[in-house]
Amino acid sequence: VAKGDHSGVVVTTSGAHDDADRQRLTTLEELRAGLGNGELVLHYQPQMELATGGIPGVEALVRWNHPTRGLVYPDGFLALAEHAGLMGRLTLEVLEMALAQSAAWRAAGLDLTIAVNLSAANLHDVTLPAYVADALTRHGVPPAALHLEITEEVLMRDAARATGVLAELRATGIRLAIDDYGTGYSSLAYLHALPVDDLKLDRAFVTHCDTDTRSAAIVKSTVELAHNLNMRLIAEGAENEAVLDRLRRWDCDLVQGYHVSRPQPPDVLTAWLRERAGLDPRSLTPTLNP
Ligand code: C2E
Ligand code: MG
Ligand code: MG
Ligand code: MG
Repeated sequence: VAKGDHSGVVVTTSGAHDDADRQRLTTLEELRAGLGNGELVLHYQPQMELATGGIPGVEALVRWNHPTRGLVYPDGFLALAEHAGLMGRLTLEVLEMALAQSAAWRAAGLDLTIAVNLSAANLHDVTLPAYVADALTRHGVPPAALHLEITEEVLMRDAARATGVLAELRATGIRLAIDDYGTGYSSLAYLHALPVDDLKLDRAFVTHCDTDTRSAAIVKSTVELAHNLNMRLIAEGAENEAVLDRLRRWDCDLVQGYHVSRPQPPDVLTAWLRERAGLDPRSLTPTLNP
């Protein structure tokens, strides 16, 4: 049986969970140490404009470069970080790294927007908008180049409170997106009221939209909904050319997916972008498809 005390430290008494609890505690201590220690790294996944094949921006996705376990993906540590109250710090670190990378790309002549994921904790932090505005100034990145994503599920859990922080962020000139759209039960009333620019349709509805008629219906009607609300529709999880083809035909604005590119370390993505820039922008088939 495991009991948590007020510091969040798990105390185990006996039983089969001992090893799992000890492992969790070790991971948590390692994560606390790793934060601010340069162990978090960002990979970037391109967002492709379907009408032109251009790459206007990327999404920053965090990975934990663990000293012995190697690269740990969000699945392996974000829930723990959230549980331990570390997401506020994690987001700020991610934001700093993403803005530094954005500045480096801009200096190199690559004018990319950068999307950063927020967590539930961030929406409760009334100091976040001022922090973000200051960070943009420090890095010399224009607010319009920063996009912030919040999952529909998190947004709906606390929509009233979220609206204040989101409105303030957006007033700075930052673009806001609802992530994993379609999985979090948002009512149309909230969709209508929230200060949001983009809908990112969850990959559950996208991945098989070339063959599954119900997915197809959802994608088509969500594009229409987004456009009627003056939002852009970004499709997640395009894994083949047939899906890209449908998304283009259905007037979807942007796409992210393994078929365009997996998330990559910044230097790999820079090379990919340079190579791609040498191509005819109308040739939509990626050349470096993993
Ligand atoms: P997300 O924000 O919805 O990011 C998209 C996820 O889908 C990424 O997983 C990406 O690698 C994956 N993906 C992209 N294209 C495809 C595809 O074609 N097929 C499939 N099967 N998957 C695809 P990743 O990097 O493992 O991130 C998972 C989630 O972790 C993210 O989902 C986001 O919610 C969260 N996350 C990642 N980085 C951060 C961060 O810095 N802060 C916060 N708060 N959350 C983050
Ligand atoms: Mg996201
Ligand atoms: Mg998503
Ligand atoms: Mg997701």
